[in-house]
Amino acid sequence: MTPSFNLWTDPWITVEQPDGVLDDVSLEQALVQAHTLRAIHDASPLVIVGIHRLLTAVLQDIFDPHNEEDLDALWDAGQFLEADIRAFGEQYAHRFDLFSKDAPFLQSADIPLEPEKKTWDIALLFMELPTGTFVTHYQHGLAEDHFFCSTCVARGLLTIPAFATSGGAGIKPSINGVPPIYVLPGGDTLFEKLWAALILPEFQPQAASTTVDNVWWRRDSIVGYKDEVTEVSYLHSLTFPARRVRLHPAPMRTPCTRCGAQTAWGARTMVYQMGESRPKDAPFWHDPFAAYRVRGKKDPTPIRPWEDKALWREFAALFLPMTPEDEAKEHTLMPSALYQRGELAVEDIGPDYEIFPVRCVGLRTDMKAKIFEWLDASFDVPTALLHDPLGSDEVRRGLDVTTDCARLMAGIFRGAFSREGAEHHTDVKKRMLAAYWVALAAPFREFVLGVAVPETRQAAFTAWVEQVTEQGKATFKEAAESIGDSALALRQRVEGIAKCSAALNARRKKSLGEKEQNDTMETLPLFQTKEAQ
Ligand SMILES: [Zn+2]
Repeated sequence: MTPSFNLWTDPWITVEQPDGVLDDVSLEQALVQAHTLRAIHDASPLVIVGIHRLLTAVLQDIFDPHNEEDLDALWDAGQFLEADIRAFGEQYAHRFDLFSKDAPFLQSADIPLEPEKKTWDIALLFMELPTGTFVTHYQHGLAEDHFFCSTCVARGLLTIPAFATSGGAGIKPSINGVPPIYVLPGGDTLFEKLWAALILPEFQPQAASTTVDNVWWRRDSIVGYKDEVTEVSYLHSLTFPARRVRLHPAPMRTPCTRCGAQTAWGARTMVYQMGESRPKDAPFWHDPFAAYRVRGKKDPTPIRPWEDKALWREFAALFLPMTPEDEAKEHTLMPSALYQRGELAVEDIGPDYEIFPVRCVGLRTDMKAKIFEWLDASFDVPTALLHDPLGSDEVRRGLDVTTDCARLMAGIFRGAFSREGAEHHTDVKKRMLAAYWVALAAPFREFVLGVAVPETRQAAFTAWVEQVTEQGKATFKEAAESIGDSALALRQRVEGIAKCSAALNARRKKSLGEKEQNDTMETLPLFQTKEAQ
């Protein structure tokens, strides 16, 4: 029997039906039925990003929207037309077979199908093995015991273009470097999600080649060892073979060690080497689903997950437009997919929802081979703010106040509870700051919704500043009171609480004053309050 598993026709994508029931469908079915499905489902959010990018690439290739009218017509159709999808399948379905001898999907056909001297464990396809539902840590050991079914192998392969990381000498990360946080547009159905991910040429990476298109289904089935590619099209980037892989198919007689299912063919080993990368001096690659920080003429830095940093603190950088007063100063760029959504919303194209849902998926690493955890979080972004830099600035100011207050709290805590030059109770301080950010997460959503409406903007900002400073005081007090009852601790506590309260009050007055100043353009006296002295 010839080994085969064709992603175009065989079921391997787990999708959620509107009633919540999970079902496995083929690539073709996922696209044809997208308007009747809710979402893609997998234990690993990295797999979801991988599948999302593959579906996006296929649709982008089929429908190739060139302007807003094209996207408008697609939206009005309410579904991806079956005839168009079938036509694509007739032409390219043979390029989606995992175990094809001559054209294996996302693998290099010049490597034999049978294992040779050196083989790699199939577990390398998954940078993590799930142990929880939210944050999952990599498990070492037992890698050689893994035997994956065809669907798991496919899912693992698909994480390479978006998430392949550095891995020792000569092993480079994929096209986006150390993986950024990917921002996936949301929607009620899979159709809506994928429609919002179709990117017009003006929002595609500027560095993308428009002359050479090595998207997987049209290129040679060869991935060169350590091949440097200078011409990369947008579609090529979505299916970027950062690794030179060849699976070794074997008949399955036991359940898959990742998902428990069994397919006719699976894989225990493979060849897994460095594949394609772009040259070091290649122009910067700006992924439409990543957000960036920019300073001066330096290349932008993608927003990535950060240890102990609640993701909503990056809300403005990740989801809101910014018009920098001064290009030389640090500023942020939200994902181009969101800029596009904002522009379309102004033209009344696409969904008319006030809230644009997004899902963020990231992988936290040490910037090299070590992988710590993944991140998977959903946010509601007011559509109005996507095309409102002024409102977005207000959110940014609100976040600045919040960060400043956290800094003040940390500084005062350190000063109050250290003696003889040594800092004490750093663990309590850390917990205090974590508690502060957690307590403000839900109110922040209300703040953002309030800012989105010009009539309630001012009140929302004032309320947020009040809330932040009061929360800061309360959290500081709680932390201070958790420290011993010695006479020294009591004195430190009383002094610390008073100082913190004074500093936060001063900060509150300053930001509300600045606000007034911004609004009325009048000069205000310097705030020198009793508490601050
Ligand atoms: Zn499996």
